[in-house]
Amino acid sequence: MKKVYLDNAATTAIRPEVIAQMAQVMQEEFGNPSSTHSFGRSAKNILELSRKTIAKQIGAQASEVIFTSCGTESNNWILRSAIVDLKVERIISSKIEHHAVLHTLEVLRDEFSIAVDYVDLTEGGLVDLNHLSELLAENVPTLVSLMHVNNEIGTVLDLAETARLCKQYGAHFHTDAVQSVGKVAIDLQQIPVDFLSASAHKFHGPKGIGFAFVRKGLVVHPMIWGGEQEKGLRAGTEGVHNVAGMAKALEISYTELGSEQAKIAQLRDHLLAQLQIHFRGFKVNGASPLYNIANILLPLPEEKTAMILFHLDMKGIAVSRGSACQSGSLRPSHVLAEILSEEDLCKPSLRISLSHYNTKDDIDYLISVLQSV
Ligand code: PLP
Repeated sequence: MKKVYLDNAATTAIRPEVIAQMAQVMQEEFGNPSSTHSFGRSAKNILELSRKTIAKQIGAQASEVIFTSCGTESNNWILRSAIVDLKVERIISSKIEHHAVLHTLEVLRDEFSIAVDYVDLTEGGLVDLNHLSELLAENVPTLVSLMHVNNEIGTVLDLAETARLCKQYGAHFHTDAVQSVGKVAIDLQQIPVDFLSASAHKFHGPKGIGFAFVRKGLVVHPMIWGGEQEKGLRAGTEGVHNVAGMAKALEISYTELGSEQAKIAQLRDHLLAQLQIHFRGFKVNGASPLYNIANILLPLPEEKTAMILFHLDMKGIAVSRGSACQSGSLRPSHVLAEILSEEDLCKPSLRISLSHYNTKDDIDYLISVLQSV
């Protein structure tokens, strides 16, 4: 059966160069990086070179990059540290963050009795920076935690302006950049973000590895205790092959960013043009989404909502659920619930997320299968 993968915001295919790099490390570098003999030193060397490579891509210093197991772990660690180590009494976030932030905030609020405020969003799901200013003006020791790119609708935070506001009011700033690292140029030398979370499997790297950027000078303590790995900040023997794969994936993503972005943007234009022809009246959910994500509301009857993903799956097409009433899920999309009317929420919405591996044929196949729904 023909298979078409259009769910790249969920995860991405690993680049062949990354697999080759990881295989080489697994075959030749099995030493424990904490061992002092030559096998260990060689593995440690790979870790540190990878750290440098990653830091260079985002304008960070190598010492500011801490390896973790994933984006979720980075988010958990940073949010907890802000309370325990930086003594913030309030976290400002938004209702459309990933659950790795939202659910963590609920737990932390109960555990530490901190305040959690949610910034207003515009109709299209953008953060209302005027409201953020008003909240910040209240002058409580605060961490702002706002995602750079939304994983469901692709909306983009003005990172520079948000960081500037946080600085102006003396608040710390964390950004969940899991959907933007490797897809958008980020220069942390220019933008005064304090903390950032990233995950390799979103930029054509392996799963089970991510990193946290922690700005130099911020004193944080570990969430996982044990050995002295990662300067004692994240104990546990490092997955050297995963780290090497992540560094390779990020380096290639940024080397190829211009051409891959252009290709993906063209594919999305083609998708939207085809939708315009065959599904007149369709809408894009979310204001000015990033070039790789199209969350679309289809002008189809409500009763088609439940079977549409199933139908696409039967035809070998992978996309993600967009709408709240869809796919028999008891959990609605908390993101669309914030930005759509009750009526639109029950209509079929799909998240189509692209990578440079997609082709015009993939889009045409999707359109033809959608027409047969
Ligand atoms: N944050 C965002 C915005 C995401 O899209 C995801 C993954 O879907 C995560 C966090 C969690 O990342 P990980 O899968 O590496 O735990």
